[in-house]
Amino acid sequence: MLRLSLTARCNLACPYCLPDGQEPPGLLNLEQRLQLIQAAVALGAQSLRLTGGEPLLHSQLDALISAVQPLRAQGLREITLTSNGTLLSASRAHALRAAGLDRITLSLDGADGASVARMAGLADARAGKRALTAVLEAIEHARAAGFDPAAGQLKLNAVIQRGRNNDQVVPLAGLCRNQGLELRLIEYMDVGNRNGWSPADVVSAAEMVQQINARWPLEHLGRKPHGTANRWRYRDGNGCVAVVASVSQPFCGDCNRLRVTADGVAYTCLFSAPESGVDLKPWLHQGVDPAELEHTISTLWRRRDDRYSEERDQRRNVVGAPSTVLARAEMAYLGG
Ligand code: SAM
Repeated sequence: MLRLSLTARCNLACPYCLPDGQEPPGLLNLEQRLQLIQAAVALGAQSLRLTGGEPLLHSQLDALISAVQPLRAQGLREITLTSNGTLLSASRAHALRAAGLDRITLSLDGADGASVARMAGLADARAGKRALTAVLEAIEHARAAGFDPAAGQLKLNAVIQRGRNNDQVVPLAGLCRNQGLELRLIEYMDVGNRNGWSPADVVSAAEMVQQINARWPLEHLGRKPHGTANRWRYRDGNGCVAVVASVSQPFCGDCNRLRVTADGVAYTCLFSAPESGVDLKPWLHQGVDPAELEHTISTLWRRRDDRYSEERDQRRNVVGAPSTVLARAEMAYLGG
């Protein structure tokens, strides 16, 4: 799977992610992104996820989605988008569908204005309520444009952080049950160094499942090969909920994600050190043999041995002290 960040910028400033205010120099253009996606598909990537930063800030998003459609004949099976949804108007949702987008995952970390504001770095509960309303409208726009939640084409992501929104697990599950959406609860991760992560801030997947199960009994479905989410079915037949447990139950050995930043730097792990990225720009020029780009990516892929999540405890030599932990690339730069 290729996860391609289109921009490092975001219109929100979630304190757990802390995006950059501006793009890194050397942003890839549409042609370079196409070359890159072509190479990944030639090497066997079947799934493309467009992310950021906030990908809806990128003016050529629809053009890129249209341009990759011919790659379906070469093995590309799905094109998906992760967005905070606050900029997803009705016309934008229709345009994305018309361009050939298969699925959208929207991110929302609370079911009330105060929680949304806290998690999204907004001024107050009123601003949080406006963002919440925008996301609820985005859900309707996406649905109306043909993204069918029952077919897994529209889902909701929520990061849960202790002391900030751990009281939102059940309300978010209720909201998604009412909307017919699958909720994907994400354990708060130590991506990057800016968010001041501490293990004490993590609400484990087990605890989240326990909270929901006490309200609406659940039955375990499991995790698909190479998937991030462990899925549970509501016993009353009202859909499914999933948890992404990359802190409490790491799945490094099964990860198949190649991440490429908006400026063309490839990483094989969400928790990579900045210097471990491979800059692909030298191979993203007219006239360079595509086989050279494929060779560079496959060499990087064959050499990968990242197991950060499985080694987290040993590698964070002094837990919670940002100055002593290893440097890692930031989430908004890598693309979540
Ligand atoms: N702006 C888009 C969005 O909000 O979905 C796409 C980029 S965002 C980095 C992708 C996902 O990563 C979001 O669902 C976000 O909540 C999640 N995320 C960011 N930082 C995180 C962290 N430290 N731990 C867990 N998830 C995180």
